[in-house]
Amino acid sequence: MPAFRNTNNPASLQITTHIGCRNLCSYCPQQSIVDACKERAVTHMMSFGTFTACLNHLPRKVQLVFSGFSEPWFNPECSRMLWYASQQDYTLGAETTLSSMTVQDIEQLKHIHFTRFVVHLPDNQQRTRIEVNETYIETVQRLLDKPLRNLIWKVHRIAAGDTLHADLAPMFEKSGVPIHFTGTSHRAGRINSERETLLPNAGKNLLPCAEFRNNVLLPNGDVALCSMDWSLQHTLGNLLAQRYESLFEGETFQSIQKSLRDASLPLLCRACDKDIVRRNRLQQAQKNWKEKRKQRGNPLDF
Ligand code: SF4
Repeated sequence: MPAFRNTNNPASLQITTHIGCRNLCSYCPQQSIVDACKERAVTHMMSFGTFTACLNHLPRKVQLVFSGFSEPWFNPECSRMLWYASQQDYTLGAETTLSSMTVQDIEQLKHIHFTRFVVHLPDNQQRTRIEVNETYIETVQRLLDKPLRNLIWKVHRIAAGDTLHADLAPMFEKSGVPIHFTGTSHRAGRINSERETLLPNAGKNLLPCAEFRNNVLLPNGDVALCSMDWSLQHTLGNLLAQRYESLFEGETFQSIQKSLRDASLPLLCRACDKDIVRRNRLQQAQKNWKEKRKQRGNPLDF
């Protein structure tokens, strides 16, 4: 049985409704996913039919999160897909910049019980490059007046002084809702930064990552390992052709498990800083346990 099933967190699937995000935020490795999809001839827009066919192979215990490798509402069918999934009793979340979303979309979504509806807001340094136009302002105001369930407002703060876009600041001051300021990961080395060449997990024996069961659906039904796999290094299978459980029984997933303990094999996780805290904590706990066992002596040793 795959090791990831031993954890208590629910599984989730991020839905990439579209490839080629027009926002082009400064910290986003868009070119990597665009190139990888081109190479594999992955269609750029998920059809409603593909989405519903994939759900036929997906158990309801898997949470759907509309986010993935692009702004989900750049696909005009996004709200319809969400509504359909809610009627099928899936647990739903979303991460969006609100680009291309309208007040009509919000009307359609207002009865959905989102576990989280995270809105990424533009900043004063043009790092999160959302076009702040009339429709956008109207959509933000509608959400401030009547929020969707579990709405979280978020701004990426990459450097000191990064704050909310000046056109939005008065609206948020007036409403008094809190904004969460967060940093970013380095997307497993896929963004241009001074950290690009770091391989935080090079040469180590690794533990299975919590994200092994938080996978990403592409517009053609392919499933990528996780939200760090912008180059599609590990594609687990295709939900149009196979059932969800079989994604974790196939050759790709087995080779990932093997590569965790063999540093000579290629593995995206060696370049990823996302799960490093958890790994270090678990590895330290394992070390402590072995030490204690050594001190106590093994009762089976005579
Ligand atoms: S370690 Fe990083 S690349 Fe590997 S599964 Fe976790 S999030 Fe993805």
